[in-house]
Amino acid sequence: MDRFVTHLESAIDGTTLSAEQVQTVHEARPLWVRYDLPAIAQACDRNDIASRAPDMWRYRELLPVGEQDERISLGEGMTPLLPAPALGDQIGMSDLWIKDESQMPTGSFKARGMAMAVSMARRFGLDRFAAPTAGNAGGALAAYGARAAAEVFVFMPDDTPVINQIECQLAGANTYLVNGLITDCGRIVREGVEPMGWFDFSTLKEPYRIEGKKTMGLELAEQFDWELPDTILYPTGGGTGLIGMWKAFNEVRSLAWLNNDNMPRMVAVQSDGCAPIVRAFDKGERFADPWADAATCASGLRVPSAIGDFMILDAISDSGGCAISVPDGDIPTAMARACAAEGIAVCPEAAACVLAAERLVESGWLKPDERTVLFNTGAAQKYPDVSPCALPRIDIRSPIDYGAMR
Ligand SMILES: *Cc1c(COP(=O)(O)O)cnc(C)c1O
Repeated sequence: MDRFVTHLESAIDGTTLSAEQVQTVHEARPLWVRYDLPAIAQACDRNDIASRAPDMWRYRELLPVGEQDERISLGEGMTPLLPAPALGDQIGMSDLWIKDESQMPTGSFKARGMAMAVSMARRFGLDRFAAPTAGNAGGALAAYGARAAAEVFVFMPDDTPVINQIECQLAGANTYLVNGLITDCGRIVREGVEPMGWFDFSTLKEPYRIEGKKTMGLELAEQFDWELPDTILYPTGGGTGLIGMWKAFNEVRSLAWLNNDNMPRMVAVQSDGCAPIVRAFDKGERFADPWADAATCASGLRVPSAIGDFMILDAISDSGGCAISVPDGDIPTAMARACAAEGIAVCPEAAACVLAAERLVESGWLKPDERTVLFNTGAAQKYPDVSPCALPRIDIRSPIDYGAMR
């Protein structure tokens, strides 16, 4: 069979939409991609997966790209799942793991979503793409757009990390700096759909980025030998990663690929400089009000309003998880501490998860021996401004003072 997608489904009201044509949103809310899971269960089992190439396409039955479609790929997926014993010691956890997305093409997990969304856009013959970005999404769209020989337009707030600006421009995208927030960039893209004829790749405004990001969950299941961890801490902006993983866990459970019925508690972590999901969670609401004056050094978390808010909040509550914010000012030191503890290039967004884990252990919400996975969604190297470097200098015109190094 070519592909197992049956239809798209409105996340807000369940309306069925065709998966055989270009779709965006329904009632301004995201769509789910639905599969014929019984047919997938017939066609393959989890052992078939084991012998396939180590990339995210190994789960092809659970992905929307057909066999005759071209995969727009830069070798994404199957990132390491690393034990983090030293960081665990610092936090007071004995079974802490880091899923290290810093090693993805373009240095963040955004590559997964864009590889899938761009492949699907090509399936439907689209070749002009646009997106607003807080940074990494733009970099990934620019790279996969280049790979697909498509024309790309990226709009980012003018204080987006310089490395994101450069990576977009280097990949040949038409890149614009906007003196506003990501929501302003989003409006430029939305209102440009008609005059510019581009396809809107905004987070959750097309159905396939979730399907790419859900492969983080599929990999996690496989890497833990089909037993899911107790808790997942995920730095949440637009929420696609968290939503996608929760979808993945439910799909593999339906396929009976899991050894047991244990589902992880999903924890959405935000910065106190932009925490709309945490505020909604605390109030027990299903929709999040926009966050005014959003500001955080963890640029991936600077999403003042997410159209998938209810999908994030549903996943948190279905899983028995929680949402928690951490002080933005503590992120840079937590980042340096985590990088040094494990040698993993922990990004500021993931550093927020380190702080969150610490707080949740303190409060007793996390048990010290629970199997906990923290997502390192991007590479520390992309954020030179967050942990500025101040190194001692050596003057080779004088004798080298080894005593001072001791
Ligand atoms: C985009 C991004 C996030 C937020 O991810 P969502 O799935 O959109 O919530 C977190 N960390 C980094 C590094 C990002 O680029």
